Amino acid sequence: MTSCVIAAKYVLGMKEGRQTILQDHYVYVDGPRIEAVTQDAPAALDRVIRYEHGLVTPGFVNLHTHCIRGGLFRGIPDDLEIEPYVPTLVYRILLPLTSLATQVLSAAELRAVMSLGLLDLLRGGSTTVMDQFHHGQYVFFDVAKELGLRTVGAPFIMSASNARLGADGYPVWDFDHDGLAELQRSIETFRTYDEGHDGLAQVAIGPHATDTCLPKLLRECREAADELGCVLTTHFAQTEHELALLRTRYGQGPAEYARDSGLLGPNVVLAHAGCANDDELKMLAATGTHVANCAFSFAREGVSFPYARFARAGINTGIGTDSHGMDIVAEMRITGLLSKHFYGKAHVGTAHELFHAGTLAGANALGRPDLGRIEAGAKADLLVWDLFKPHLQPVWDPIKNILWKGHAGDIALTMVHGEPVVERGRHTKVDEAAIMRTAAQAASKIWAVAAERGILPGM
Ligand SMILES: [Zn+2]
Repeated sequence: MTSCVIAAKYVLGMKEGRQTILQDHYVYVDGPRIEAVTQDAPAALDRVIRYEHGLVTPGFVNLHTHCIRGGLFRGIPDDLEIEPYVPTLVYRILLPLTSLATQVLSAAELRAVMSLGLLDLLRGGSTTVMDQFHHGQYVFFDVAKELGLRTVGAPFIMSASNARLGADGYPVWDFDHDGLAELQRSIETFRTYDEGHDGLAQVAIGPHATDTCLPKLLRECREAADELGCVLTTHFAQTEHELALLRTRYGQGPAEYARDSGLLGPNVVLAHAGCANDDELKMLAATGTHVANCAFSFAREGVSFPYARFARAGINTGIGTDSHGMDIVAEMRITGLLSKHFYGKAHVGTAHELFHAGTLAGANALGRPDLGRIEAGAKADLLVWDLFKPHLQPVWDPIKNILWKGHAGDIALTMVHGEPVVERGRHTKVDEAAIMRTAAQAASKIWAVAAERGILPGM
């Protein structure tokens, strides 16, 4: 039985396996699924939601996030004059703040911080989010369920401990444990929270990164992911320093190291991969490995990881917002512009390519043929954009208008699993104001302690 029919001016539907703009179509939703996309008008008794100037697109599949950081670190990493930027930011500021969060926040405050991050992602257009967080923060799954957001949770697994900066400003770790206990906790997390394709929550195996996990642990992670039939995801080729470490430790480049450690293949999503060379990218493509491109995070430090470089190497490339901004349109626009600059061509990194990356490519990376598309049988995870705005009229191509001129504030309806979760810019169930207030209080509490200890940079 049809639960509702969405009538809109435009639908980004499917034709012969490709995304195509359909005009004056109806999207029939039946429970958690799309029943039909057709020009057949609804029956008199059907519940019809009309958007005269609406554009229906799939909800975005956000392939790489750290939701907790949005609520704790917003504004802190931007515009900082620190050298070297990444290790100083991560090891002098972000990691100490994260560990303060576990020391000084109450369970309710931690929950509010996580709620803020996930609410921000949902309001930013993401209907599926793959997030890496720390073991113990399983409130992630409860909060996501409360918000009605589809998630793949991947708790961190590491061999490295006691992270600190060395005399040269780069990180050093102790490798005094094998990380197998954390892997075991991830397997238990999978058994407790994973609901398969019919539910909202899934679990992935998430070793932290190539420089913080030893090869034995990575191979064990690969075996566990294969046995559980789940996704394996990790940070990969993020910095030149990481590559130098791999060369010193193993005499290998990142792709060879990944291959020998079991990190390549069709159930693997590598976050970033920006420092891999062209031959290494070809190796990723040849093995069916996926890349999560999160260009905004790196662009803020003056480093360019353009989407098109990975897509043109033949890699299935999706989009992630990492922990910078959660508006996925902004993320796609930045990586589209970086792509045009990289190749010096306007036709590279197009709006349609980027929508494909943010929806279908992300779904393919997660092995989810039922996500990222508006067609019969797919999950009803969709966005309706209101194009009747001064910055979005007139409409030549609605996808170009949204990608180059729009923002997540133009989303009139967000539906996940057939449920309307955000309508006219407000979550339909949770108290957004209460979440924002509690999360802001929690952040001030951490910032006050951090300021006393000299962790926070000057304003
Ligand atoms: Zn990350």
